[in-house]
Amino acid sequence: MTNQVGYCMSRRQFLASTSLASAIGLLAPHTIFAGAEVVSTPGLVETARKGAANATITVERLRGNISVLMGAGGNMAVLPGRDGKLLIDAGFAGARPKITSALASISSDPIKHLINSHWHFDHTDGNEWLHSAGAAILAHANTRKHLSNTTRVEGWNFTFPPSPPGAIPAEVFDDERTLVLNGTTIALKHYAPAHTDSDISIHFTDADIFHVGDTFWNGYYPFIDYSTGGSIDGMIRATEANVAKVTDRMIVIPGHGAVGDKSKLSFYRDLLVGTREKVATLKKQGKSLGEIVAAKPTAATDAEWGNGFRSPKDFIGDVFLGV
Ligand SMILES: [Zn+2]
Repeated sequence: MTNQVGYCMSRRQFLASTSLASAIGLLAPHTIFAGAEVVSTPGLVETARKGAANATITVERLRGNISVLMGAGGNMAVLPGRDGKLLIDAGFAGARPKITSALASISSDPIKHLINSHWHFDHTDGNEWLHSAGAAILAHANTRKHLSNTTRVEGWNFTFPPSPPGAIPAEVFDDERTLVLNGTTIALKHYAPAHTDSDISIHFTDADIFHVGDTFWNGYYPFIDYSTGGSIDGMIRATEANVAKVTDRMIVIPGHGAVGDKSKLSFYRDLLVGTREKVATLKKQGKSLGEIVAAKPTAATDAEWGNGFRSPKDFIGDVFLGV
């Protein structure tokens, strides 16, 4: 995490620059708290997409020639080299001009390879243009399935139509895949359903950089997509797997939030496990979701973790659904 390129952003600037943050933060409560009774809030996914044109993209150089681009949706990793650039995740399509300049600031290698960490639009919206620019797209089979079909996400109150053909991953795998590109070994592994049923981890083994997609939100309460296989217990299982794998040296790229490490990942694991425990206990006592939210089971972390993508209410709502 040396040699920051561009400029550093404060947390507030970061949030302001990621329109998805506010959009997703706004989207969920309507469905989680209101169920079928509440009027939907349409247009927020479109709002997130539109706002991407004004996103501020930063490039942070990590090590082993690997960088992370932040601010265009989910965190994107970039490995340039003689085989062409490899990107992990595609960000929003509307951020294309800014992503293009950020990629050009890293190297002049053409874009040749794209791996999606999972199917969500803030990680795949740019698939079509990146494919048109030369990228072959690889992902888990369930990413292809969700992008190929009409897919409803209740937590966002949004139904995604099938993606255009160029956005669909041409190559998929079920469990594991290992690639060697630009002299670097890249190990891909599917999680059991966690944040969705399509989540994979991407391990740059030589540099020991581990992109874990949206199984890890560093400094923000996570979104859990129950509509496409996610659950709090699945999130905890994936996080336990991440914690079991992480070493003192490893750099961990979360789907959202700052680049992290073993201690951040362990803190996040304890947060998920502790919140699940508290919410499950209160639910067993017969408490309603509203009563549990009022009991503030996440009070200790709300000030730091609850002001970004997901409010404390959103997060407690997601946990409540799964216990
Ligand atoms: Zn996601």
